[in-house]
Amino acid sequence: MLKTDSGVALLGAICYNKLIMPTCYNRVQQEQEVLTMPQVKPIVTLISHTPQPERTVAAAARLCYSPAHLDEVFDGMTPEKAAGFVDMLSEIGHQSPIEHASFTFGIEGVSRALLAQITRHRIASFSVQSQRYVVEDGFDYVIPPEIEKDAQAKALFVEAMDQAQRAYSRLLEQLARTHEAAMAADGMDPKRAKAAARKKAAEDARFVLPNACDTKMVVTMNARSLYNFFSLRCCNRAQWEIREVARQMLALVLKVAPHLFAKAGPPCVSGPCTEGRMSCGKAKEVREAFASLRGERQ
Ligand SMILES: Cc1cc2nc3c(=O)[nH]c(=O)nc-3n(C[C@H](O)[C@H](O)[C@H](O)COP(=O)(O)OP(=O)(O)OC[C@H]3O[C@@H](n4cnc5c(N)ncnc54)[C@H](O)[C@@H]3O)c2cc1C
Repeated sequence: MLKTDSGVALLGAICYNKLIMPTCYNRVQQEQEVLTMPQVKPIVTLISHTPQPERTVAAAARLCYSPAHLDEVFDGMTPEKAAGFVDMLSEIGHQSPIEHASFTFGIEGVSRALLAQITRHRIASFSVQSQRYVVEDGFDYVIPPEIEKDAQAKALFVEAMDQAQRAYSRLLEQLARTHEAAMAADGMDPKRAKAAARKKAAEDARFVLPNACDTKMVVTMNARSLYNFFSLRCCNRAQWEIREVARQMLALVLKVAPHLFAKAGPPCVSGPCTEGRMSCGKAKEVREAFASLRGERQ
C-alpha cells in the first residue's frame, strides 16, 4: 500500500518497488496465479493536479491584459469568470497561460512498447518502474487485441512470454551465482553478497524481457503539453494502446477542468482532419465519440 501525502514518496516507490497503484488493481487473473504471468489492461488515474486549474490559468492570463497587481489577480475570480477567461484564451489561441496548470497521472497495465512511445513527449516528467531495481519474477504482460482475438496467435504469444520468463529466470540465477562467488571472493559478507549479486544479475537478465512486459509510471504534463499529446495520441492514427491511455487521461482531466480541455482531442474534433491521405476517414464518428466523452448530447 502506498502511503503518501506529498506524491514525492509515490514517485520513488514507483521506480524501486514492484507496486500496484492502490486505486487501480487491474490484474486480469488472480494474485495466487502470479507465476502464470497475468495479462493486464491499461488503467490511468489522476493522482493530483494544480489546485483550481482553470482559476489559476485565468488569473495568470488576467495579468497579461490588465494593470492588476499580483495580489489582485484572483479578486472576484469566480469559477464562472475563470471559465469565461479560459474560453477566451482558447478562442484567441493564447496558449502559454495554460502551462500554469499541471496534471499528474498514474499509468499502469501498459507495455514497455507504450513506454517507448509516451516518453517521446519531451514536455513532460516521468518516473518509471525500473527493470534494473525490480526483479521480474513472474512478469505481467499486455496482449494486443488483434492477438487476443486469434486463438492460434494468442497461443503463440503466451508461449513466447513463457519462454522469455524462463530465459530471464535462468539468466538471473546463473548471473547471480557468478556475481555472488566473485563478491564473496572479494571478502563481502555472504548475506550482503547474495542480495547484491541478485540486483546486479537483474541489470543484465532484463535484456531478454519482451516489449509486452508490463510497466507502470507516474507522468506529469502541463495543459499545453497535454493538448499536443491529445492531438497526436487520441487520433485514430496513433497505436491502440497509447490511444486508450490518452483517451482515459482526457476523460480524467475533463472532469476537473472542462473548459480548459473543451477543444482537446484529435485535430478533427475542432477542425478538419490534418492527416491527409493517411486519414482514417472517420471524422464524423470521432467527433461524436469525443463529444460524448465531454458529456455533450448528440
Ligand atoms: C501516429 C504517430 C506515429 C509516429 N511514428 C514515429 C516513428 O515512426 N518514428 C519516430 O521516431 N517517432 C514517431 N512518432 C513520435 C513523434 O515523432 C514525436 O516524437 C512524438 O509524438 C512527440 O511529439 P512532440 O515532439 O510534439 O512532443 P513533445 O516532445 O512533448 O514536444 C512538444 C512540442 O514542443 C516543441 N519542441 C519540443 N522539443 C523541441 C525541440 N528540440 N526543438 C523544437 N521544438 C521542440 C515542438 O513544437 C513539439 O511539438 C510518431 C507519433 C505519432 C503520433
